[in-house]
Amino acid sequence: MADAEIIAVGSELLTPSKVDTNSLFLTHELNALGVEVVRKSIVGDDRARLTGAIRDAMRDTRIVILTGGLGPTEDDVTRDAVSAATGRALVFSQEICDVIAERFRRFNRPMAEINKRQAYLIEGAEALPNPRGTAPGQWVVSDGCSILLLPGPPGELKPMFTNECAPRLRERLPKLVIRTRWLRVAGMGESDLDALIAPVYTRYTNPVTTILAAVGDVHVHLRARSDREDEAESLLDEVESQIAELLGDRIYSRGGASLEQVIGDLLMDRGATLSVAESCTGGLVAMRVTSIPGSSRYFRGGFLTYTDEMKTSLLGIPPGLIAEHTAVSEPVAVAMADAAAKLTNSTYAISVTGYAGPGGKAPGLVYLGIAGGGKADVRRLQFSADRERVRALAAQMALDLLRRKLLAP
Ligand code: ATP
Ligand code: MG
Repeated sequence: MADAEIIAVGSELLTPSKVDTNSLFLTHELNALGVEVVRKSIVGDDRARLTGAIRDAMRDTRIVILTGGLGPTEDDVTRDAVSAATGRALVFSQEICDVIAERFRRFNRPMAEINKRQAYLIEGAEALPNPRGTAPGQWVVSDGCSILLLPGPPGELKPMFTNECAPRLRERLPKLVIRTRWLRVAGMGESDLDALIAPVYTRYTNPVTTILAAVGDVHVHLRARSDREDEAESLLDEVESQIAELLGDRIYSRGGASLEQVIGDLLMDRGATLSVAESCTGGLVAMRVTSIPGSSRYFRGGFLTYTDEMKTSLLGIPPGLIAEHTAVSEPVAVAMADAAAKLTNSTYAISVTGYAGPGGKAPGLVYLGIAGGGKADVRRLQFSADRERVRALAAQMALDLLRRKLLAP
């Protein structure tokens, strides 16, 4: 696997108002070629600093890509800095000067003397044509390191990389296959998950394992590289199977599908329908279920019963049951789920009742109920998180509880 380093040049990129988007484009394109970006940096228009950054990059990496600083003005220092870092002279090219002069003629503009600065090539460099602008790109190989000088304006950089650089890189690089796998896990914190699977994945540098976490949702990403497809797949198989064994049924999807998608597929498979009765989540569960196109084939609707009165008037929960146990209790969660399933004539129903907090009786205490297929399942959860997270976690765990019920033998 080849490694690359990107250096974005330009003092404007160090201000709060300008973002370096070129390196994102370049990283995307390089990854597609099987090249990993191992470091990127932004350096202002400062000759000495840039020279230092190029020297560092050349020492560590075989491909160094610079963007920006190829303009004609005094603050465009990329050519000078590469010249200094490689110890190669800048050589005037009459041929390039003619191309630039011709471009000015075409646009009926006089060519300023300073534009001649753009006609200097690093000794031994190959010029990369720039039909969108004046400065050509340059490709120079020094001490076994390929250094690419590309223009800053995205409209010039992108076609130059695609048309000139990508084909040259493809030719030089060994054939490389990249294969990826996703494992998505619900109901487990990032650090617990990491503690569980780190003993496996830290033994491998290929595939590379990355853990990405959202609220109540952790994604394990495996990325294998090889010159052979079957080898990349078997590397993935080897690590994935060990991680999967440790995580067991906490894995809800392997192809990258979301939890609501997985539930939708399971309900469709079983020809089953779903409804909800939500209190503290305020419709979050229904929102997620209905985010899936075609969810009308299995989702029938639901009840948003925020107050005790609404739980009684809409769902028919006996006031005595609430008085005896409070609305946030196991019996009320079960009654809500049973009532939602019955009233909507659904195979399954999810209920959520809890204290989202902050403040109140028991902030973070949530009961989830799942009706359907006999006796309702109920789960008591105590989260210690802020209001938004409590609600998001409750919705996530409710969906996961349904998934488990749908998968139960
Ligand atoms: P020019 O001939 O236009 O001066 P140049 O190669 O010297 O080209 P810069 O002067 O560094 O490039 O940048 C020109 C413009 O291109 C910047 O003002 C900015 O809008 C855009 N640009 C430069 N670098 C980047 C970057 N890394 N990401 C996004 N835009 C950039
Ligand atoms: Mg410039």
